[in-house]
Amino acid sequence: MITIKKPEDFARMRRAGRVVARILEALREKSAPGVSLIELDRLAATIIKDGGCTPNFLNYHGFPAHTCLSVNEEIVHGIPSERTLKDGDILSVDAGAVFEGWHADAALTFPIGEVADEAEELIAVTERAMWVAIEMSTVGARLGDIGHAISAVADLSGYGVVRSHTGHGIGLQMHEDPQVLNYGRPGKGMRLRDGMAICIEPMFNLGTHETRTLDDGWTVVTADGALSAHWEHTVAVTHDGPEVLTVP
Ligand code: MG
Repeated sequence: MITIKKPEDFARMRRAGRVVARILEALREKSAPGVSLIELDRLAATIIKDGGCTPNFLNYHGFPAHTCLSVNEEIVHGIPSERTLKDGDILSVDAGAVFEGWHADAALTFPIGEVADEAEELIAVTERAMWVAIEMSTVGARLGDIGHAISAVADLSGYGVVRSHTGHGIGLQMHEDPQVLNYGRPGKGMRLRDGMAICIEPMFNLGTHETRTLDDGWTVVTADGALSAHWEHTVAVTHDGPEVLTVP
């Protein structure tokens, strides 16, 4: 079911989104060789609490942490552990928060120290695809066109577009309808309506689009072990145009 938000609902999501943006910024700043993933997750927990929000990732279907921290070939849903970051890693941080029942969700990928040019490029292109899709998220736009535009950006660089995980609607639930695919057929799919909120989240791989899930039941990795990047924002669709809710 598609839910339509009122301006006051968006105000609460914006408030949650500000806290999510703060988490992403703080974790990016703190990340360095030798820093453990669990330390980063603890910092996120503090920011959620200090921001007057509650966590949405923690205990979601049993997920044990406040953030998903995915390193290198890990695409999404990495569980923060004692693992420490190393020079040359890339880290994807996916974070969420809830304010008065309303959810926000965002992610980014960044390098730890010096990384290979192909890793920098993968990160930059994935972010670019996200912004292309956000700009297209206007009232009346079709999800097929948005998905197609995302995959077209990846195709130019020969990247694999993850299909096993997708963007989604968001509101009083973290995951609502519609599914927002990172691929699609032009001119097809539902049209966006005023008052919808969606998470746009391309996940691009240096190699194959195929994925598998590790024995921990959560961590999704590339099937060929190649690097993966992930960018996400929560976007309000309004007659005034798309508004990114997960900003400082
Ligand atoms: Mg999401």
